[in-house]
Amino acid sequence: MGVWWGARVVGVGPRGTYDGRVTEAQATSETRKRVLLAKPRGYCAGVDRAVQTVEEALKLYGAPIYVRKQIVHNKHVVSTLERQGAIFVEENEEVPEGSIVIFSAHGVAPEVYEQARERSLKAIDATCPLVTKVHHEARRFAAEDYDILLIGHEGHEEVIGTAGEAPAHIQLVDGPEGADKVTVRDPAKVVWLSQTTLSVDETMETVARLKQRLPLLQSPPSDDICYATQNRQHVVKEIAAECDVVIVVGSRNSSNSVRLVEVALDAGARAGHLVDYAHEIDDAWLAGATTVGVTSGASVPDELVMQVLDHLAARGFTDVAEVTTADERLTFSLPQELKRDMKAAAAERAKSAAALAATVADA
Ligand code: SF4
Repeated sequence: MGVWWGARVVGVGPRGTYDGRVTEAQATSETRKRVLLAKPRGYCAGVDRAVQTVEEALKLYGAPIYVRKQIVHNKHVVSTLERQGAIFVEENEEVPEGSIVIFSAHGVAPEVYEQARERSLKAIDATCPLVTKVHHEARRFAAEDYDILLIGHEGHEEVIGTAGEAPAHIQLVDGPEGADKVTVRDPAKVVWLSQTTLSVDETMETVARLKQRLPLLQSPPSDDICYATQNRQHVVKEIAAECDVVIVVGSRNSSNSVRLVEVALDAGARAGHLVDYAHEIDDAWLAGATTVGVTSGASVPDELVMQVLDHLAARGFTDVAEVTTADERLTFSLPQELKRDMKAAAAERAKSAAALAATVADA
């Protein structure tokens, strides 16, 4: 296991700052009810960028701002942005002509840009750059006439977006069983790509099964399962075997959050549950438990995790040990089209301020 220490939660910052006090006695306590708090957890760089994109767009252009699909798969984030003036729609045709629309972190197929152009929408693309990377791979291999086996979950927005880059070349492989149904034109010209938020272990199982049938199957040039998904799964594996129950904070439509529950169970947790909010925790889950693992999906603000810790503390789980297996520092800059408009607005404000100062000086 990685380095861990006892901590008592004493405060929480708005973007998930963990403010705890270390005590040696708590760290060595085996008998008290305790929480193993996974780190990394919560917001990844792509989610942070997508949420900031909507927030900055609201500040810059004013409400309403339309967002195609949930900007990230989290109920709380979506309802918070709705209160600020974002309107979430399923398709571009629900957006009034000439309005601003933001595309979600999960990415969109090229035809979605085309529809936006036809409706004269101003599109801001909040697709995570790591999803965009997979789109580039799909386009490149399709241009070289490969058959592309896209490992992912049928119907997930990211998979729909990636598959839309080259529908004639891409086949979806949904889990190890899906591997048996694949047919290709040339077994020497096949590559697999994947959704970014899958279970690492299950994906490797799917690839192994594909390779039994297609020994010349090529791998993506770099990992498609993103760093955030891998890190969150890794730390959960580290704590799972010690946990009577693992509570994952995340929404049901969040692929990476659902995977965390599965990974926890596979790695030895006696039970695992997904909750959007602390109040959804059933006291029966905690009955007889001495160690509770807590983590959160990549689209979850840390304030929700802190509420879970408070909820657990009220039930005797006052010792919190944060288990850290990676230090994440990656950040992504805002979409170019938004940054350009923010810069222009700042220049306009500076010009107005200078003109006002000149008028005052003249007076
Ligand atoms: S989970 Fe990974 S791919 Fe998805 S938004 Fe976060 S960093 Fe990007």
